[in-house]
Amino acid sequence: MLSVAMSLKMPEPDRDVLARRAEIVAALAEIVPGEGVIDDRDVLRAYESDGLTAYRQAPLVVVLPETTDQVARILRWCCANNVKIVPRGSGTSLSGGALPLEDAVLLGMSRFNRVVEVDYENRVAVVQPGVTNLAITQAVEGRGFYYAPDPSSQIACSIGGNVAENSGGVHCLKYGLTTNNVLGVELVLMSGEIVRLGGKGLDSAGYDLLGVIVGSEGLLGVVTEVTVRILPAPATARALLLGFKDVEDASRCVGAVIAAGIIPAGMEMMDKLAIHAAENFVRAGYPLEVEALLIVELDGPAAECEHLIEAVCAIARQCHASTLSVSQSERERLAFWAGRKAAFPAVGSISPDYYCMDGTIPRKAMPQVLARLRELSAHYGLRVANVFHAGDGNLHPLILYDANLPGELERAEEFGADILRLCVKVGGVLTGEHGVGVEKRDLMPEMFTAIDLAQQQSLKCAFDPTLLLNPGKMFPTLHRCAELGRMHVHAGRVPFPDLPRF
Ligand SMILES: Cc1cc2nc3c(=O)[nH]c(=O)nc-3n(C[C@H](O)[C@H](O)[C@H](O)COP(=O)(O)OP(=O)(O)OC[C@H]3O[C@@H](n4cnc5c(N)ncnc54)[C@H](O)[C@@H]3O)c2cc1C
Repeated sequence: MLSVAMSLKMPEPDRDVLARRAEIVAALAEIVPGEGVIDDRDVLRAYESDGLTAYRQAPLVVVLPETTDQVARILRWCCANNVKIVPRGSGTSLSGGALPLEDAVLLGMSRFNRVVEVDYENRVAVVQPGVTNLAITQAVEGRGFYYAPDPSSQIACSIGGNVAENSGGVHCLKYGLTTNNVLGVELVLMSGEIVRLGGKGLDSAGYDLLGVIVGSEGLLGVVTEVTVRILPAPATARALLLGFKDVEDASRCVGAVIAAGIIPAGMEMMDKLAIHAAENFVRAGYPLEVEALLIVELDGPAAECEHLIEAVCAIARQCHASTLSVSQSERERLAFWAGRKAAFPAVGSISPDYYCMDGTIPRKAMPQVLARLRELSAHYGLRVANVFHAGDGNLHPLILYDANLPGELERAEEFGADILRLCVKVGGVLTGEHGVGVEKRDLMPEMFTAIDLAQQQSLKCAFDPTLLLNPGKMFPTLHRCAELGRMHVHAGRVPFPDLPRF
């Protein structure tokens, strides 16, 4: 039984599959012998949610394969026997992408935990999908290299999950998101076919199917190997802490830095509530009298850093920065970041619950959007703390609420939906880096027309015509593939739009 605090319609469980549980467990145990299959209902509880903990559902069974061949056999068997599959990496998704289904096999990829090869000549690492994001850097840092995309969850999240969500992080402003740092994948399709897309080179023949896979949220195939770009670590990194008495000035400063042709390694913003929470939590030395704080990191050769620091400081002064500090040592640089890195748990310490939103807007719209967020906060009677990737325009408003107070969670959810609608309205998008999953699934029509969604589903059907791979995620309605081919869309409306077609 799906236990959700929020209203969410998931595909109806297939009674026939539920009745065949013992047979399914036995078939999986034959493919992955030993301790690779978990069917004890108590142990299954450990898998019942991901980072979006408001949604919980124990899976039918968990299987933990170790080889690509096992993954292929599992998918082939499930395909032939009409059993759904939900892929899972480390389970840190904030959009419910790895939420299990009652009648689906949860395919845990945690045993795929080997760094297969580091090829310094080609500046790539070939890794299995269960390797954590941070472990890639740890594997190459001895030779002065690193893997650039750095989600805050990097200590735990897997590279397979990063590929599925096209994850980002502080340093993606300069070095690109996951999609810009993945060169190849090995992928198992629902049919059990094993395909390779891309490789060690910068380009490959044919359509850019790799670009389709990165960000596909486990709906198109199961990634069993990833080739990532590794970069030489910058010679120097310095951080600036810029305080502003006015949020609008801080927002203008972000745009002005980029407009001056400077791409910092990272440019993050925190508002007053977040600054105070972080300062109380880790004593980072943040100024408490300001309304907004920018942390700007500049990296490269020492002389270039010095030059850029001067340029950014001049821009900050023009934008009326009221405090300005430049890190003079690595220790100080890390201290500047300490508050930002601890900001989410810090906000967690000032409120029983918070709901982390993720939408992206054009940088220019930032002052307008932040002002509207304050109005919405007053309207809903819920506080909001902003901690976000300002350089990318990727907002993370944290809506503070108390799930124990009747109606607060629903209000937080409505507030969140309004924020995402606002992002779309100003020319932005529904998600920056956390994915659509179940969280934003029903908001997809805010951004895409019925025709857009039908086109996107055509792509899904090309990879997985059975619709058995991670159903209930990303698409507000999922039409049978055969039906989709014949479907007539009239004036942008699909027939029977209210009909759930999972
Ligand atoms: C405290 C915290 C901070 C976070 N900070 C950031 C951040 O800064 N930036 C950011 O982008 N995200 C962030 N996240 C979100 C999350 O960590 C990322 O989305 C991450 O990429 C998920 O990886 P995972 O291994 O946990 O994947 P899971 O949560 O297990 O799965 C995520 C999705 O990927 C699919 N999937 C997983 N593995 C595979 C595979 N091998 N093949 C096909 N599909 C697969 C799943 O089906 C699911 O749809 C944060 C989360 C937390 C809890």
